[in-house]
Amino acid sequence: MIFLARLSDLLSDPRMPYFIPCVKLKQRSKALSNVDIPDKSPLLIALTFDVEYDFGSSAREASLDAVEPFLQQLPALAEEWQAAFTLFVQGDIVERFTQLLLNLQPRHEIGLHGYAHELWGKVKWFLPKKPISYDTKKMLLEESLKAFSTSHLAMPVSFRAPDLVADTDTLQLLEEQGFLVDSSAPSYYGIPPLPARPLGTTSALLSIPITAAPDPRIRTRYFLPFAAYEVFNMAWLATASDHQFLNYVNEVLSFQMSAGTKPHLVFMAHPWEFKEWTEKKRYDYCSRDNYELLHRKLQLLKERYQLKYVCLKELAQLLDSKQDG
Ligand SMILES: [Zn+2]
Repeated sequence: MIFLARLSDLLSDPRMPYFIPCVKLKQRSKALSNVDIPDKSPLLIALTFDVEYDFGSSAREASLDAVEPFLQQLPALAEEWQAAFTLFVQGDIVERFTQLLLNLQPRHEIGLHGYAHELWGKVKWFLPKKPISYDTKKMLLEESLKAFSTSHLAMPVSFRAPDLVADTDTLQLLEEQGFLVDSSAPSYYGIPPLPARPLGTTSALLSIPITAAPDPRIRTRYFLPFAAYEVFNMAWLATASDHQFLNYVNEVLSFQMSAGTKPHLVFMAHPWEFKEWTEKKRYDYCSRDNYELLHRKLQLLKERYQLKYVCLKELAQLLDSKQDG
């Protein structure tokens, strides 16, 4: 059964070659390319970090080597960059890092990243994990909140599901538990970089996805064209040139301004991307140098825009159309 579910997920992946004609028809930014972005336009930016086992779902064992040095580094970075961060922390590691999180809490937001990096929605062809049941979700959410409470941390109001997989049951449970922001929309499928109310307009839960390019790039693999949406994460940033990066931001901002949304970016990285892993070729972009790389790219934005760092819950308030006017 799980094999069939994986196959069905693979065949319905919107990046597959046979969906390209649809993707091209939709070309979201084509019509918007004339939007003029004045110099020093305001730009809200949320720097978010998923604090989890090293390598997330790709972890062979539940190691946490990268977490402590990363959390220790953040206060100095925040000071130097004059920035605020949002951390999505796995529920099962909250108590292990309580003191470091308590130190960060006054200036930064501590949100939740599942309990132990499990699957909060349907099976995915590219993930080895099996979905968890409704009762397990409810129990793991309660366990996570308990860990926040016993650590004397403020109750989290922002959630990001591991691997950006969350179904309606998950969103409903989040709303019941008082969450206000969900950042689990699967950006890699080309989710538009706009806020949304996934449970309807009367719901309090606002979806703010990790920023993805409004239109895909077409990449050839095995002689076939696949759609790929560039996601504003560390892996992409480490390979993008300054020119590509600024064009990308311009494309996102034009799209958001045409849609009547305040220009904003949501960046995502993990602690393990700021540490060297010499044995693992797939992770050769991971390095301590990424702190400096990220800082330099942010400086580029600062030269062009009026940059304002916000936590995700603050971004939700600023983007919430209900509170406008
Ligand atoms: Zn994760």
